Amino acid sequence: MNLFELKAWEIANGLRNKDFSCEEITKNYFEKIKEVDKDINAYISLMEEEATKRAKEVDEKFKNREELSEIAGIPISVKDNISVKNVRMTCGSRMLENYVSPYDATLVKKIKENDGIILGKVNLDEFAMGQSTRTSYFGVTKNPLDLTRVSGGSSGGSAASIASNQAAISIGTDTGGSVRQPSSFCGTVGFKPTYGSVSRYGVASMANTFDQPGVIASDVRDVITMANIIEGRDKRDATSVGNPDLKYEFNYDTDLEENLKGVKFAIPSSFLEMDLDKEVKSEFDKAINILKANGAIVEPYKIDSLKYLIETYNILVNGEISSNMARFDSVRYGHRTDKEFKDIEEMYKISRGEGFGDEVKRRIMIGTHILSLDFAKDYYEKAQKVRGLIIKEMDELYKSFDIMLCPTAPCLSLKIDSEMSLTEIYQSDLFTIPANMIGSPSISLPMPLGENGLSVGIEFTGKRFKDKDLLSAALGFERSLQK
Ligand code: GLN
Repeated sequence: MNLFELKAWEIANGLRNKDFSCEEITKNYFEKIKEVDKDINAYISLMEEEATKRAKEVDEKFKNREELSEIAGIPISVKDNISVKNVRMTCGSRMLENYVSPYDATLVKKIKENDGIILGKVNLDEFAMGQSTRTSYFGVTKNPLDLTRVSGGSSGGSAASIASNQAAISIGTDTGGSVRQPSSFCGTVGFKPTYGSVSRYGVASMANTFDQPGVIASDVRDVITMANIIEGRDKRDATSVGNPDLKYEFNYDTDLEENLKGVKFAIPSSFLEMDLDKEVKSEFDKAINILKANGAIVEPYKIDSLKYLIETYNILVNGEISSNMARFDSVRYGHRTDKEFKDIEEMYKISRGEGFGDEVKRRIMIGTHILSLDFAKDYYEKAQKVRGLIIKEMDELYKSFDIMLCPTAPCLSLKIDSEMSLTEIYQSDLFTIPANMIGSPSISLPMPLGENGLSVGIEFTGKRFKDKDLLSAALGFERSLQK
């Protein structure tokens, strides 16, 4: 058996049983990366030297019988909008093509302290804006399930690195679905914890009130293990509060499908009227039947304000984006043009014009417009109120239900050259955005691959800070699919 096919928890067991060393595992993964990544393009930067050095240290610690963390020796990929000290962090943008992080993000620090082995930094849509990795300056990441299709986004490099066995666990970020949607496309598990569970310190901001780091892996157990490590209040991120719920230890040797008994799932009725790809629709129907067969209750539920979801998201997110992107001024950070300029104003214009891609520019322009004095009241402030309304209605749902249920994405992974209008692209985030809007934990779980070899994700979104209940149901669903 190839070591890179093992789940992270199997690697952890193997290391403890001395079936193989951490150095062997690491070597195995880099060989795999060299073999397959020229076709997939998941990695932007590799950290082979550092990873190998750390692997030897971990082997030493095992030899000395030190009590090590569950992620000790596990090969990990990190999305390239998260700082790893002395390693390039591009955010998928020409703007930061040569930027090297001077410090570790808090979550990276935790991974290192727990002896996780970071193999490298993986591709994303530029500054995490998109759903296909097609907006990355470093080119699209192809879907390992079908190389003519996209891996999804924005954490496409993360999901593809897992689906092609180029890492055992990956860290992504999720502002409107970026951990879950690529998981749906690539057949991986993608988990975004409750907003505030994981520190955003050292994570490049897209939209601060929506962003949350999350985990992608090949099963729920691995996702839980990593979430447990990176969770925690951090004084460097005032919006982080930590989440003791993620510290809960599950017993994986029980009949996990029992976890579904009596769990109440609500499907927003407007979602039932949506146009879905026929494969998505049939897998979703199957999922509903599986849940019911295992004792869960599944019912439709009407939430009127969801009809404003996409517009509200885009106004608020673009507002936050425009202010976050302002820091890339080519002075403190970012690409500086080689062209002549007559004054600083022109230097900004040319440098930012060259450094940012179209999607980022579009969002900066919309965001600046809706935040401007004349329009803020009509757009930004109104959207804030609608966000409040959506939160209120969703809180009402969670008084009678435990989990909101829907497909993760309305479609299968798209062909790389497919053309979609911007409206269609933005609309396709409909199922993932609610969790970010209200700060809830949410997970995408893959259905077994169909005849076409492609994946459909089923999404569970839970109550804020009830991550344990969500993950318990996710484990139940995953186990029931294996039966
Ligand atoms: N696809 C969404 C967007 O483009 C979400 C991105 C994300 O979660 N980072 O806004």
